[in-house]
Amino acid sequence: MKKYNFGAGPSILPQEVMKATSDACVDFNGIGLSLMEISHRSKDWQVIMDEIDVLFKETLGVPEGYSVIFLGGGASLEFCMVPYNFLEKKAAYLNTGVWAKKAMKEAKLFGEVVEVASSADANYTFIPKDFEVPADADYFHITTNNTIYGTELRKDLDSPVPLIADMSSDIFSRPVDVSKYGMIYGGAQKNLAMAGVTFVVVKNELLGKVSRQIPTMLDYRTHIDKGSMFNTPPVVPIYSAYQNLKWIQRQGGVEAMAKRAADRAEVVYGEIDRNRLFKGTANEEDRSYMNICFVMNDEYKDLEKDFLEFALGKGMVGLKGHRSVGGFRASCYNAMPIEGAKALVEVMKEFEAKH
Ligand SMILES: *Cc1c(COP(=O)(O)O)cnc(C)c1O
Repeated sequence: MKKYNFGAGPSILPQEVMKATSDACVDFNGIGLSLMEISHRSKDWQVIMDEIDVLFKETLGVPEGYSVIFLGGGASLEFCMVPYNFLEKKAAYLNTGVWAKKAMKEAKLFGEVVEVASSADANYTFIPKDFEVPADADYFHITTNNTIYGTELRKDLDSPVPLIADMSSDIFSRPVDVSKYGMIYGGAQKNLAMAGVTFVVVKNELLGKVSRQIPTMLDYRTHIDKGSMFNTPPVVPIYSAYQNLKWIQRQGGVEAMAKRAADRAEVVYGEIDRNRLFKGTANEEDRSYMNICFVMNDEYKDLEKDFLEFALGKGMVGLKGHRSVGGFRASCYNAMPIEGAKALVEVMKEFEAKH
């Protein structure tokens, strides 16, 4: 049976990316040694680091004056590194979910945090639109895709201060005007690679402005200066990102990823809205293309477990919603083919016919 992985993260990757990565884990570049055992200072590895820098910048459209680095620690460590490196007095945050809240919690250790708006009272079912960013904030932090609640900000905001975005779960799913951001970061394990590496895109001129001392490993400049190799980098996850970026380019780049995402979303949301058993949880205008959240209509609430089991039996894996939303979450990241979305719809229709 063909299985489709709708898990929210770690998540689906293209078969050919996993294949190329596992091949390299056995024999890297035909050198008779595994990627896992060679020195990160070896020439063969340096070539990958040089190429991924070019590939990443090309694919996302990163302009001059920005650096791309690969770190450990996940997006969660960035919640602390961002204020460490940028927060002198005060920072603005848009509270659109659990991840945004976690980022705010860390920032409060470094200075004043202004929550410009929040949708917490509505269980984060929408993205606030009316807010003002204080002109004297050191930066404005947003989460472009709220993985847990299935809301997404698919445009690049204008901000009077440097805009910093957690793009963990929507990176490379659409064209982004990087020049509008001071920094973009995310854990790789949703849309880019296997778990174990964090990407950071940072505007160089914003660095070195805070007055505090920054521990070496937490200072972005350390990693920029050393090309992400100040210490031993997570070579296998980076290699999987490298393979996936090549895959994204072969598909036609971020424009093609955006088309795929829109097509999948149309198919799945279309069925949620049509099917009498289900309803979506996020406000329509803020619906995420990446994490499609839905629940059973009230009169069918008892069928929730049955549907999960039924869907699993048909090869639909990882559909259980996050506990703070309940119901179901069909994560449709870059690698999810339209066939996966269509297969899910078939399962929803079959289940409806049974009830
Ligand atoms: C998954 C996720 C995180 C946490 O990422 P880690 O790499 O596990 O620390 C942060 N932000 C968003 C939006 C996420 O989806």
